[in-house]
This record gives sequence, structure tokens and C-alpha cells, in this order.
Amino acid sequence: MSNILNGKVAVVTGGSRGIGKAVSQKLASLGANIAVIYSGNDSAARNVEEYCEKNYGIKARTYKCDVSNFTEVKETIAKIKTDFGTVHILINNAGITKDGLAAMMSEEDFDRVLEVNLKGAFNMIRHTAGLFIRNREGCVVNISSVAGLIGNAGQCNYAASKAGLIGLTKTIAKELAPKGVRCNAVAPGFIVTDMTETHADNPLLKMIPLGHMGDVEDVAEAVSYLVTAKYVTGEVLRVDGGIAM
Ligand code: NAP
Repeated sequence: MSNILNGKVAVVTGGSRGIGKAVSQKLASLGANIAVIYSGNDSAARNVEEYCEKNYGIKARTYKCDVSNFTEVKETIAKIKTDFGTVHILINNAGITKDGLAAMMSEEDFDRVLEVNLKGAFNMIRHTAGLFIRNREGCVVNISSVAGLIGNAGQCNYAASKAGLIGLTKTIAKELAPKGVRCNAVAPGFIVTDMTETHADNPLLKMIPLGHMGDVEDVAEAVSYLVTAKYVTGEVLRVDGGIAM
């Protein structure tokens, strides 16, 4: 099991911090070479690159790229192809929040969250699909959220983007299954990361059946399952302590 991804190339967006960092490290521990995409924090990205190369003996590289920018993504995937030869695994994890009640939310805040969280995933799939089809092999995991399944007051932009990712996941699964490409989603609940540091007093935490927030490794475990589950496609796997059941 430990070398099950030997020789595979995985691209992890937002792979430098939080859940994406744990996913990068998990896939590297299974033998995959890792391309980490991030938006601004150079040192966090470099740390993941160094950690993965040193601890798992794989090749890792970092790429600064705004996933919401169609042209930047196209150029970044071209660079990754030059550096690694191809791509087998794509984890669409990069995401942001800009919370507020719908009645007061600015157009900019609504648009930006949709651009990064949903269009970003489309951009990545759009520019890697050709490689997957050529390889007759590929696997996409989109990081959605329980907010996309059950909604969350104060997050209409975020919940819409995450629900949109589920529609994207099922459509890509249907379009690319005949080419040997799978596409699944993970819907995390409350996971301890920088994104949730302001949620410590959130009353919703008391409604988690398992009684506590999740760890980034819990999500990375689910991602690695979907990456290796050869007969699973179009699925949405909740990792949420039961909050959305
Ligand atoms: P995080 O700690 O804030 O990390 C976000 C990552 O995304 C960073 O690596 C960041 O890079 C990158 N990023 C942000 N905007 C980007 C852009 N435009 N282009 C490329 N990269 C970008 O977030 P997290 O909590 O780990 O969340 C990761 C994913 O899980 C998100 O999609 C989030 O919606 C989802 N999720 C999280 C939770 C939770 O409880 N934490 C729950 C459900 C779903 P820089 O550091 O360089 O900016």
C-alpha cells in the first residue's frame, strides 16, 4: 500500500497550507510526485516541497498561480507538464471564504468566492483533461463542503460554490468515465485550519454528533481513498463527524 502511487504525478491546488498540505503529504507518502499550486505564501509552499522530498524521496515542485485565472492555469499546467511529463491526479482544494448575509453581501465578495472555488476547479480540469484523456487514466478529487450540501447562514457565496462543485464533479464523472477518468468530491465539515480559526465559538460545533472538529489528516485520508478506489466515481464523501447526515 505504501508505494501504491509510485510514478504518478499529483497536482494539489492550495497544497501549501491546511487541508491541501495534508493531502500533498499523504499522496507523497504513497509515492506520488507532487506539484503544489498556491497563491501567495511562498515559504509555506517551499516548506511542503522540502518536507515531501526529504521524507518520501519523491519529486515535488511549487507553482504560484491564481486558480481563478484561466490563462495562468493554462500556463501553469504547461510548466507542470514540462517538469513532470504529465498529470495523473488532480486535487481541486484551493478555496476561500468571504462571509456575510446575502442581503448585505457585495457583488465583489460573491463573485470572488465563485471565481476561486468553482471556476478555479473548472479551469484546472479544463487544462488537465487532455492529459488524462491521452493517458486513458486520470483522477480528480474536488474539495467541496457540507455547506454545499445543507447550506450555512452567512455563506451564500461559499455554499453556492461548494454545491456547484458537486454538480461539476458528477458531470465530469459522466463525461470522462468512458476515457478511464474518475471524478469524486469530499465534503468536509468543521476541520481545524487557518480558515476555521474564527469559528471557535460557532454554535454549530455543538451539533457535531462525534463531538469535535476534524483534523486535516481526516480529510487527506478520504482523498487518498478516492484516489485509489478504482471503481468509485461521481461520489461525494462526507468527512464531517456526522453533522450533515
Ligand atoms: P486554508 O488553510 O485557508 O488554505 C487555503 C489554500 O488555498 C492555501 O494553500 C492558499 O494558498 C490556497 N489558495 C487560496 N486562494 C487561491 C487561489 N486563488 N489560487 C491558488 N491557491 C489559492 O484553507 P483550508 O481550510 O485548508 O481549506 C482547503 C479547502 O477545504 C477549501 O476549498 C475549503 O473551502 C475546504 N473546506 C475547508 C473546511 C475547513 O473546516 N477548514 C471545511 C470544508 C471545506 P496561499 O497560502 O499561498 O494563499
